[in-house]
Parts: sequence; structure tokens; C-alpha cells
Amino acid sequence: MSGGAEGKKVAIVGGGVAGLAAAHRLQALAASSGESLQIVLFERDRVFGGKVQSRWSKAGLLIERGPDSFLTRKPALLDLIGEIGLTDQLIATQGSALSSFIYRKGRMRRLPPGMGALVPADLFRFLRSDLLSPGGRLRVLRDLWLSPPPDGDLSLRELIGPRLGDEFLTQVAEPLIAGIHSAEPEQMSVAATVPGLLTLLTRDRSLIRGARRQMRARSGPTSPPFMSLRDGMGSLVSALEGQLGAVERRLGSEVQAIAKAEGRLRLRAKGADMGGKEELVDAVVLATPAHLATGLALPLWPDLAQELAEIPAHPVLTITYAYLRPEIEQVLPGHGWLVPRGEGTWMRGATVMTNKWQGRSRSSELVSIRAFLGGAGQAALNEVADDRLIEQVADEVGRLLAVSARPIEATVERVLEGNPEYRVGHIERVARIDQLLDDIPNLAVAGASYRGIGLPDVVRSGQEAAARVWKGLHGREGEADTVIR
Ligand SMILES: Cc1cc2nc3c(=O)[nH]c(=O)nc-3n(C[C@H](O)[C@H](O)[C@H](O)COP(=O)(O)OP(=O)(O)OC[C@H]3O[C@@H](n4cnc5c(N)ncnc54)[C@H](O)[C@@H]3O)c2cc1C
Repeated sequence: MSGGAEGKKVAIVGGGVAGLAAAHRLQALAASSGESLQIVLFERDRVFGGKVQSRWSKAGLLIERGPDSFLTRKPALLDLIGEIGLTDQLIATQGSALSSFIYRKGRMRRLPPGMGALVPADLFRFLRSDLLSPGGRLRVLRDLWLSPPPDGDLSLRELIGPRLGDEFLTQVAEPLIAGIHSAEPEQMSVAATVPGLLTLLTRDRSLIRGARRQMRARSGPTSPPFMSLRDGMGSLVSALEGQLGAVERRLGSEVQAIAKAEGRLRLRAKGADMGGKEELVDAVVLATPAHLATGLALPLWPDLAQELAEIPAHPVLTITYAYLRPEIEQVLPGHGWLVPRGEGTWMRGATVMTNKWQGRSRSSELVSIRAFLGGAGQAALNEVADDRLIEQVADEVGRLLAVSARPIEATVERVLEGNPEYRVGHIERVARIDQLLDDIPNLAVAGASYRGIGLPDVVRSGQEAAARVWKGLHGREGEADTVIR
């Protein structure tokens, strides 16, 4: 493509955080170059935000559909929050002295300090904890003398099993890492999900030695590793949307097909706001989960579609319960707990939202506990009716905390296209997708399916997709690109 962008139009398919960040960045690129650009943002749902939505329940709890916080170490989201004027709404985790727990064999077991990188950096405290059996704790020491594996990707099981032992894998690593990533440890790509572990091995030849070095290097005050927004993560979406100026918004419009027409791309969408209309554009950003982009890519770019189809996502469910504080306060385990598979629960873990963040309940008399279910291998739970889910998981909360208290309210959220699963070989797959896109300068993909599921990575992917289609339209990079970190 060549020439100026006069009259050029870009369609963004998907109005989650990736699509919104792409729209925001494209708008900035156009503004900084003084060139006009039409941007159309299609969103299948009636609201923007995708997985990121916040609302208040009847009892007065803040309900998050997806994320309740984000990692501050990667700057893209913090920078964006600064750009859109939300910095004064940032809140840090409260009660930093509070721990998280793993429920195992009838008891909540405190995660000892120094487990931030998943690996026990503080061996003394780990060995004295009750996190694993005595044999399971001693078994991790093998990591200190085992040679690093050959270069290349491997599964969580292949990395952790031989080095830290099977007990550590199933009781600690799997709930901590694979649970969040909706993945089975046998399939989960270490290089794509926890690349830091491979860096430790390359540098220190041992996970434990590497984690210890990192811990020592972190002495002195550090900024909070996780932050949230005062009124919930949904504020990010409303603030971003509020800044989209002239971007055309097509809510309730599901893009169903992309074809070539008149040297441009023609999008066909179903939905009230489209009224059956078709849209001719010069470039497209596909900001839906990869497997949903497959059908859109198939007719024009079958090789790309084939790669996209190989990045699955699994339903994730959350239930946010309101408990009366006096009935449960005494037994609350810090910021929350995780449950390894094999403990006979549907829930994979829970966050005590009112312990972790300020302002998660309008009443100080209520405690908010948010349970997580689903992910790889648990898709059948999505078939279970709300009432049954609420009962079962409330029973589990009662059993795990050994209380008879019952919740006074429960809110179920179902995220059908939950977190994508990065399987072994994911990085090579994304590299092949990039290569295929090199030949399609008017197309970009963005979102959690590619280079990280956390919000900072998702924001970055939207911004990079914007930069890519801008370059495709202009044959040169835009000025606002330089700020991408
Ligand atoms: C329960 C849960 C908890 C999480 N917790 C955290 C956390 O604490 N911290 C963190 O950093 N991350 C967390 N995540 C991950 C993070 O929320 C997601 O990775 C991120 O929000 C994904 O954004 P996205 O824009 O890529 O995709 P999505 O949010 O899925 O947005 C894609 C959008 O595309 C739309 N769409 C799909 N097909 C079409 C079509 N054909 N036409 C038009 N629109 C279409 C969808 O309706 C959707 O709105 C969590 C995720 C879940 C599910």
C-alpha cells in the first residue's frame, strides 16, 4: 500500500482491551501525523471491554468479570493509565503482610515468603513450612545439582518434575501457574508463559539459585507488584472508550466475514447497529481471541487461519459470594487460596477480595470471596446451572474454611472464551503467524492469544497492531510508535 492515508479506513474487530488499545493508538498516530484516518470498532457484545468489566451487585459488592488487578513490572498498562488520566485511581494491594495459601489434605497451608518467582527462593523458610510433605520439600534440592535442560521450549511438567519433584509440580506449580493460564502442565509452554524460569536456568544453572539471586537483588523498597483501579478494572475500559473521539463504535455487531473488494477489504457484520450494511476498509486489526479469528481469516488467508485455530481458549467461571463479616472473619485465609487438582473440589482457588483490595464492598459488614473454576479440562462445568454451581462451591468454601456460614449473595460470571492456552511450541507458532502477516501488510492480530495473557501484554499487543497497520497504510512508521515499551 502506498500514498497518504486521506480517506483511509481501518476496522478493528473486537472491543476488548486489545481492540480499545489499538483504536486509541491509531487515533494518536493519526493525530501526531496530522493525517486523517477513519477507525471503526466492531464489538459483538452490547458493551466494550470483553473480559474487563466491573459492576456492583445488589448487596453492594464490586463484581469483576475478569481481571481484578494487573502486574506493574511491565509498563504498557501503567503508561496507558497515565495517558488517559487514571493515575489517581490506582490502588495497591492492601494488607501486604497477608499471605496466600494452598489447601491440601484438609488444611490451609501458608505459602512461605520467597515464592514470588514460583520457585522457593528462601530455602530455609520453605523447608520449615508445611507446604509439602517432608520428602516433597527435600526433593526440591535436586534442582541445585541437576544440569539445565537443552535449549528450547518444554512443558511445565518437563521443567518442574525433574528439578523440583512431582509433589511440588502438582501441589504448588500447577495451581499457581497452570491454573491461571488455563493449561494442563503436560502441555503448557514454559517459554511462552513463564519465560523467567528459563532465564534463571540459563544464568544460574538452577531455579533455586537463580530465584535466590533475584530475591537478594530486590532488597530495598519496591513498587507494589500488582495494582488495581479504585472502582474496578472496568474503569480502564470506560476511560479508554471516553477518549476514542471520532472512532465509529459498532456495538452489538459481530463481524462474520472478510472478503476482498475493489482493492480493499469488505467486512460483513451481523447486528442491530449494522443494519445489514457492509463496510469497506483499507486495513483490519483482528482483536478477538485467536480461535474466533480463524473463521474470519479462512477464506483469504487459510495458512494464517490454520495457525490461529491451534490456540484454544477454555471457559472460566467465577462466583463472587457475599458473607456476613462476623460469621466468617475469624477464618479468612489472607488474600486467598489455591486448590490443587485431586482435592475433590470444583473450585481451583479463591480471592478474598475485601482483604486484598480496598473498596470491594460498599458495606464494611460484608466480606467478598471470589472463587475461580474452569480452565483446561474443566469445560463441562460450564454446562452446570448457576444454582447448582453456587451451592456446590459454597459447600466447598464452608468445608475448606471449616465454617458453617452461608453466603447471603452469589454472582456467577461465565467467560466462555476464557484465557487462551499456550501449548509447547506457542512461541514458534506466533513467529509463524508474524511471518505470514509479513505478506499481508493491511492485517494485524492483537490480544491475549499471542504474547501474554496479562493486561499489560494485551495493551502492548493492541498498540503494536495499530503501529503495524499504520505502517502498512503509509509505508513508514508513525511517530507515536516510539513510546511503545
Ligand atoms: C476470570 C479471569 C480473570 C483474569 N484475571 C486477570 C488479572 O487479574 N490480571 C490480568 O492482567 N489479566 C487477567 N485476565 C486476563 C485478561 O483479562 C485478558 O487476557 C484480557 O482481558 C484479554 O483481552 P482481549 O482484548 O485480548 O480479549 P477479550 O477481552 O476477549 O476481547 C475480545 C472481544 O472481541 C469480541 N469479539 C469476538 N468475536 C467478534 C466478532 N466476530 N466481531 C466483533 N467482536 C467480536 C468479544 O465480544 C470481546 O469483547 C483474566 C481473565 C479471566 C477470564
